[in-house]
Amino acid sequence: MSSLPQLIGFTEQHGQWFAENVSLQAIANEFGTPCYVYSKKALTHAFSAYDKACYRKDGTRRARVHFAMKANSNLAILNIFSKLGTGFDLVSGGELTRVLAAGGKASDCVFSGVGKSRAEITLALKAGVKCFNVESIPELERINEIAGSLQLKAPISLRVNPDVDAKTHPYISTGLKDNKFGISFGDVIHTYQVAHQMPNIQILGIDCHIGSQILDISPFLDALDRVLSLISELESLGITIHHLDIGGGLGIDYGGDTPPDITYFANTLLDHIESKGFQQLEVIFEPGRSLVGNAGVLLTLVEYLKPGETKNFCIVDAAMNDLMRPSMYEAYHAIVPVQSTHVEPTLYDVVGPVCETGDWLGRDRTLAIQPGDVLAILSAGAYGFSMSSNYNTRPRAAEILVDGSLVHVVRERETFEQLLQGEKTLS
Ligand SMILES: *Cc1c(COP(=O)(O)O)cnc(C)c1O
Repeated sequence: MSSLPQLIGFTEQHGQWFAENVSLQAIANEFGTPCYVYSKKALTHAFSAYDKACYRKDGTRRARVHFAMKANSNLAILNIFSKLGTGFDLVSGGELTRVLAAGGKASDCVFSGVGKSRAEITLALKAGVKCFNVESIPELERINEIAGSLQLKAPISLRVNPDVDAKTHPYISTGLKDNKFGISFGDVIHTYQVAHQMPNIQILGIDCHIGSQILDISPFLDALDRVLSLISELESLGITIHHLDIGGGLGIDYGGDTPPDITYFANTLLDHIESKGFQQLEVIFEPGRSLVGNAGVLLTLVEYLKPGETKNFCIVDAAMNDLMRPSMYEAYHAIVPVQSTHVEPTLYDVVGPVCETGDWLGRDRTLAIQPGDVLAILSAGAYGFSMSSNYNTRPRAAEILVDGSLVHVVRERETFEQLLQGEKTLS
């Protein structure tokens, strides 16, 4: 790949890159690097693309969007989505705490994840989450027991592993037989019957999530058909399913990718469900990447240009601890200078200062740059900051949100003091 993604909210004008009306160079000058920059317009645009498909012609709702917040859990972003009317898909007690801090409601949250702890289940039951997406019988037993001790009924759905190939990277494919996720297709009916007998469990729905960065609609339709057949079978056994959660996973354009249009994608799935006679089902989408991925960039400063025998290195001040996707999945992110300079274009590997060979951000990139220039790593809004760490005792980057001409610091750069907080030497 070598082309640039199609972006909303980020534009290049006469060799200068902007987030909405604000130049990225100006943001780097004022707030320093590395620094994430998000566009409110891009966030809103992606949400509206889903939301448009969520209503019928007569205005009644046929689907809901629950943002998979592990993709980007900054409070300002959660707050924007919450005001737009999204729910959330959580995977930890910490994420529930974030939703509540951002002004969201527990009753708009579904709680996913294969390893929910007792403390997390208790927290979520007390807060009143809309549904637990359950992945095993031991988890059902645990939820039933805790709900019993609180004299509550826990609303649940079972996460089905539909065993379809999402044709994506093996590390982000979750719907195949040998993945750790979900209940094997052949065991689903039995597991519902077990749940049905539990006194403190209330069956609400069914769910699946087949993977991430999926660029084709067909694996979603295959998964839907398998799940819809289960709903019919459960109905005949006297178990009513009220909602169908089809997970997230829609891919984005990182440069040269051609994902389906979001509204077209959502309409196709919803029409498919209705065409099979399931008009009464409430449908839930759980998008993460497709809501935020192209709404953010990571700004980084060129520290050194280091020529080598076989490769030239562009050493920048962001690293794998700031953006893990390249080292973890060999993911491609387009990289552009935020202000064009008149120097000879050269082929570089763009790498960070962390002491790991895996610490690279882009390979074989032709860039016309000099030390001191600022680069924007594009499509970094999803699984960027939220996967960042303090490896090499590096403070985590600042996060900035641009709304038109307004620039908001939505997370201060971490300080060294904060990094050491909580640690103690042996007196
Ligand atoms: C990660 C995840 C999502 C979101 O996936 P994207 O590919 O970012 O859309 C949705 N549902 C579940 C259960 C997940 O684990």
